[in-house]
Amino acid sequence: MNIKKYFATTYHHSILPLLTPFEQEIEITWGIYKFIKQNKTNPIGIIFPEYAFNLNTLSIAAKKNISFSLISPGQIKKIRYVNELKWHPANKTNLYNIKSAYVKLPEEDIINLLVVPKYIWNNKKYHLNYKEDNFKNSSYEIKIYENTSIGCKYGLKCWKEECTCKSSNQNDFHQHWKKPLRRALNLVKYYIDESFFTLGKNYFIDPRQALLNYGKLILGLQSKDLFVKKYIYNQNLNTAFQLLEMESLCLNMFSSYIWQSRDISSSRVQQNLKLALMAIYTLERISGIYILNNFLEILEEAISNNHHIGNGRFLVEHYILPKLKKSSSI
Ligand SMILES: [Zn+2]
Repeated sequence: MNIKKYFATTYHHSILPLLTPFEQEIEITWGIYKFIKQNKTNPIGIIFPEYAFNLNTLSIAAKKNISFSLISPGQIKKIRYVNELKWHPANKTNLYNIKSAYVKLPEEDIINLLVVPKYIWNNKKYHLNYKEDNFKNSSYEIKIYENTSIGCKYGLKCWKEECTCKSSNQNDFHQHWKKPLRRALNLVKYYIDESFFTLGKNYFIDPRQALLNYGKLILGLQSKDLFVKKYIYNQNLNTAFQLLEMESLCLNMFSSYIWQSRDISSSRVQQNLKLALMAIYTLERISGIYILNNFLEILEEAISNNHHIGNGRFLVEHYILPKLKKSSSI
């Protein structure tokens, strides 16, 4: 069997522990909707990008009826047999032959983690040998190293600042741009969340529920009429949808691929900066809050490897903004 077909993924390829709990919930919820759209059934498990998670991430997934995820052996801290009192530090010997283990979560939730390095997960043989009745609670309990991943030796560093680990080794390219870029994107998200929830009260019956269920509308799992009926009470639908779209743009801009780029001037990063700008202009249009200057000020600190570009501010002002203004009506 191909067990991959039982696993959803998050909606965007984002490093979940670097997002707020609510953002994580949206990524998981929309990811489940995407799976339902493609497979006409609920997923049993979910795969977190780069296996990056913490207990909070796992709890959110468990609350959404997700029973399985994946963990790499190096992310396991301690292990014990079910009901055994003593914990044992995880090592090659006691992890040998352990196919899955569960983690206890708050409120008596649990989640099972298949112990599988990514290269094995991507190997057809692993799936061929997997039997459906293996989808049951494991007899082993583990404690995990939180906020770790399979993509960065130092946990989550590669996706937020300069990192010396192998996977971010870009030869002569420095990564001084990463930290200010993360800060600039977080600033945008902060103001957009503030506005979404403050203004949202005037449009949505429950802003939180509206946003969580917006994924269904994006994916065509729910009609616009029904969505409006269930979540929006204001006649001004245009602004209500702009608020939702602004949040959606923001979630998209955190995608983890941009952090593997060689430079802030790479096309992937430019694409996500464009999403940030679109969100910034939407915010200005519907709330009158102007954050473009703050955004650019932070990006001035994001030094590019390309001397012609200099920094993130120059990149936005001279390369991204002119194109954006040409292509849309901002
Ligand atoms: Zn790293």
